[in-house]
Amino acid sequence: MGFPEYRPRRLRRNEKLSGMVQEHELSSKHLVYPLFIKEGDCKRTAIPSMPGVDQLSIDSVLFEIEELVDLSIPAVLLFGIPEKKDETGSQAYSDEGVIQRAIREIKGRFGEKIMVIADLCLCEYTSHGHCGALRGSEVDNDETLKLLSRAALAQSRAGADIIAPSDMMDGRIRAIRKALDESGFSHIPIMSYAAKYASGLYGPFREAAESTPQFGDRRSYQMDPPNQREALREMELDVEEGADIIMVKPALFYLDVLALARERINRPLAAYSVSGEYSMIRGAADQGWIDYKRVVTESTVSIKRAGADIIITYFAKEIARWMREATL
Ligand SMILES: [Zn+2]
Repeated sequence: MGFPEYRPRRLRRNEKLSGMVQEHELSSKHLVYPLFIKEGDCKRTAIPSMPGVDQLSIDSVLFEIEELVDLSIPAVLLFGIPEKKDETGSQAYSDEGVIQRAIREIKGRFGEKIMVIADLCLCEYTSHGHCGALRGSEVDNDETLKLLSRAALAQSRAGADIIAPSDMMDGRIRAIRKALDESGFSHIPIMSYAAKYASGLYGPFREAAESTPQFGDRRSYQMDPPNQREALREMELDVEEGADIIMVKPALFYLDVLALARERINRPLAAYSVSGEYSMIRGAADQGWIDYKRVVTESTVSIKRAGADIIITYFAKEIARWMREATL
């Protein structure tokens, strides 16, 4: 049945009608806000390439979370910036590491009001900026698994609600699951950065997390952007090894991977709309080249439409605020 019998414009005649047939909707309950937590009394340090996003000290994080709770944002994803780094990233698995202390403070103050997702990787903590222990100039996969497991335990002891390994080492989900189960943390879910691409969009984050590799890059463990089937293999492996939530990162340039995951992977899906996505939109809007609210909303709903359940985004606070205003 074609035109003139079928006229799609009939259902777009006004907002009420088009609202009734809208297929996807953003909700603050699916949003996660990333936070960069810095050792010391830095309070707030602006990140020049991410206007509106700051590095926070532990005490200022508590104020930030108060605001997030008020906006009904259910979860934060924590990244730590330690005062001192070393070869093996020991602050990642010390009980006194900046993230472990931050988690204790946050859970002590807010309890169940906020879910704390602990990013689990070594690159913020190693002096060389790679995601694991080195052997020569190579990251030693199996040695790194031991360190990651120790870090997962330290985060769980501190009170993390979800552990989110982002390192892309082979076999890490199984290793971490086993370590958690053996230490009384079988109730802690693992959100795996399963399909994590070696993307140019991480540039601003590295400034934010002070984690630029001192030599080489991360292409020997992160995925090659042209590959889609490889992403499926990574995701299937992580499901098999015990991941509870599967993540695709970045989001916008990889919506096809997300859509494929929605079709083939029977686990909740998360998408990480990364720093470069934020900076591009924010930068263009600051120039007056695009409508900020419209493009943020459109890009975020595209991630939803592609199949994400959980959306990790630096726009979370603004989106939640706009949604609240719309319902007033
Ligand atoms: Zn890393």
